[in-house]
Amino acid sequence: MALIQHQFDTVIVGGGGAGLRAALALAESGVQVAVLSKLFPTRSHTVAAQGGIAAALGNVAEDKWIWHMYDTIKGSDFLGDQDAIEFMCKNAAKAIIELEHFGMPFDRLENGKIFQRPFGGMTKNFGESEISRTCAVADRTGHAMLHTLYQRNVKAKTEFFIEWYALDLIRNPAGDVLGVLALQIETGEIHLFQAKTTLLATGGAGRIFQASTNAYACTGDGLGMAARAGIPLQDMEFWQFHPTGVLHAGVLITEGVRGEGGYLVNSEGERFMERYAPTAKDLASRDVVSRASATEIKEGRGVGQDKNAVYLKLDHLGEDIIDQRLPGIREIAKTFANVDPVKDPIPVVPTCHYMMGGIPTNLNGQVVVPDGDGEKIINGLYAVGECACVSVHGANRLGSNSLLDLVVFGKQAGNHIAEFVKRNSAHQPLPADVGDATVQRVNRFFKAEGENMMQTRIDMRKTMQSHCGVFRFPDLLEKGVSEIDAIAKRVEHLVIKDKSKVFNTALVEALELDNMIEVAVATMHTAHHRKESRGAHAREDYELRDDKNWLTHSLYYKHGQKISYKAVRLKPLTVASFEPKARVY
Ligand SMILES: Cc1cc2nc3c(=O)[nH]c(=O)nc-3n(C[C@H](O)[C@H](O)[C@H](O)COP(=O)(O)OP(=O)(O)OC[C@H]3O[C@@H](n4cnc5c(N)ncnc54)[C@H](O)[C@@H]3O)c2cc1C
Repeated sequence: MALIQHQFDTVIVGGGGAGLRAALALAESGVQVAVLSKLFPTRSHTVAAQGGIAAALGNVAEDKWIWHMYDTIKGSDFLGDQDAIEFMCKNAAKAIIELEHFGMPFDRLENGKIFQRPFGGMTKNFGESEISRTCAVADRTGHAMLHTLYQRNVKAKTEFFIEWYALDLIRNPAGDVLGVLALQIETGEIHLFQAKTTLLATGGAGRIFQASTNAYACTGDGLGMAARAGIPLQDMEFWQFHPTGVLHAGVLITEGVRGEGGYLVNSEGERFMERYAPTAKDLASRDVVSRASATEIKEGRGVGQDKNAVYLKLDHLGEDIIDQRLPGIREIAKTFANVDPVKDPIPVVPTCHYMMGGIPTNLNGQVVVPDGDGEKIINGLYAVGECACVSVHGANRLGSNSLLDLVVFGKQAGNHIAEFVKRNSAHQPLPADVGDATVQRVNRFFKAEGENMMQTRIDMRKTMQSHCGVFRFPDLLEKGVSEIDAIAKRVEHLVIKDKSKVFNTALVEALELDNMIEVAVATMHTAHHRKESRGAHAREDYELRDDKNWLTHSLYYKHGQKISYKAVRLKPLTVASFEPKARVY
C-alpha cells in the first residue's frame, strides 16, 4: 500500500537522555537527523531520574576511574562486559564536564566544584569504604539533564517528530535495517521513514510489572520492534527492584536519601541492613538491599497495616538538609505516602525499577547478533540507553550509572553513525512489500470481538509480579512460563471496538501491549532457564552463583522461543581483568 514517505540520513526513535545525546552529536556534525518520540521529549522517563550521575571526579575525596570500573563489575555480579565498563568509567569525567559546559546546573561544593554524594556500591580503593562519586542537581538530576540536552538539540536544529509512535523496523532480505514505520498519533496515519541508519533509544519496560517506579510510557517498544524483526534480546532475566518505592504508589524515593544518611528499619525499629551488609549497610548494592527488605517482610517484621513494607527513616537529617538536597522527596512522601519525612518515616517496598537486559550492541551502539561461531553487525541498526544491552550493568546496575551510560554511549553511537553516513551516500532500495505486515498488525485490532486490552494488560502485570519478582521460586517460574505464553496468545486477539468512537491513544496502548508482551515472555523464559542466582536474579532453588556453567549472557529469540548463550567479555580494553570472586558488601 502507498505510505507517506520521509527520508533522512538517520532516524532516532526516542527523545530521552540517550536519544537526545546521540541526536546532538549527529546534528552538530551536519547529519540530517530526525528524532521520533511518542512523548514530548522532556517528558521522557529520564526526566524522573532523581539521585544523580556517577563519575570519578574526585571532588570530595581522591577517586579513580578504575575504582569506579571495579565497583561496576562487582555490582554487575561479574556479568558486565569489562571492555564496555572500562570505556564508560574512563569517559565519565569528560561526559560530566561536557554536560556542565552545555549548561547543566550541577549542585556545588563550598569551593565551587561539582557536588558529589555517596551511592550504593560506589567505593574507594576496590571496596575499602564508601565514596562520594555521584554528581547531582538536588534530587532532580534527570530533569536538569534532559532539559539541557533538549535545548542544545533545538539550538543544533535537530528535527523532532513529536507524538509519533514508531511501529516496526524495515529490513531487506539481506537483513539490513532501512528505517522505521511510524504512526502519527494525532491523525492515525502510518508513515514510512527511510534512513541509512536507525537508532533505537526507546528506554525501559518496567511497566510489565504490577509495581513499578517507571512511567506509563516505559513499555519496551524498541525491544518489541527488535524481537519482531528477528533480533534476539539479551539478559532479559535481570530486572532491578529498587528497595525504596513508596508502598502502594510505586513512586521512587531516590537512593540519594540513603546517600545523605537515611536508613531502613523494620517493625522492631532495627536497622536491619547492619545484619545483611555489615560494611556497606544501607548503601550495599540494590539487589542486596531489596532482598533484605523482602526477607524482613516475609519473616513477619514488616511495618504498616498489612506488615508489607519497611520504613525509610530520614528525620534525623534535619529539615535544612532535606529541603536543600531532597526537596522532591519531601514532596513525594507527602503526596503519595501522606507523611512528612522531616517528622515520620516513609513506608517503602522493593519495586521494579530498571531493565539490565536489552538489545545486544557493541561499544559503538551497533546491534550485534550471533553468526556461526562469531558475531555479526546488523547493518544500519543501533541501540543506546536502557533499551540496549552493551553490557555495562550485567546482572545488577549500580545507581547513577544509567544516566552515565546514556550520555557516554549516546555520544559514541552518534559519532559512529556520523562516520557511517559519510561513507554511505545513498539510501538502499526498499523492499516491495514494505509496511504490509505492519499495516496488518495495526488493523487486526479493529474487529467486533476479541480480548479486552485492559484486562489482558492487568493479567500480564500480575503474572510477572507474582511469578518473577525479587525472589524466584521453581514452581512459580514453571507456572509463570505457561501463564505468560497463554497471555501472549490473548494479545494476538486484542480488540478495539467501535474505531470511530475511540481516540488514537487507545490504539497506541494496544500497540504498547504488543511490545510489552515480548519483553515479558523473554523475561519469564530466560529466568526459568537460568539455574543459578546472580545479581538481581535470585532463585530459591539455586541460591549460589555458578560461574562454571552460567557466566554467560542469555539471548532470547521470539521466533521459536529459542534461548542461546554467549560469553561475557572479561577482557577490558587496556587494564587487567577483574576475575569473578565472591560478592560481599
Ligand atoms: C524514577 C526513576 C529514577 C531514576 N533515577 C536515576 C538516577 O538518579 N540515576 C541514574 O543513573 N538512573 C536513574 N534511573 C534510570 C534512568 O533514568 C533510565 O534508565 C534512563 O533515563 C533511560 O533513558 P533512555 O533515554 O534510555 O529512555 P527514556 O528516557 O525512557 O526515553 C525513551 C524515549 O523513547 C520514546 N519512545 C519509546 N517508545 C517509542 C515509540 N514506539 N515511538 C516513538 N518514541 C518512543 C519516548 O517518547 C522517550 O522519548 C531512574 C529511573 C527511574 C524510573
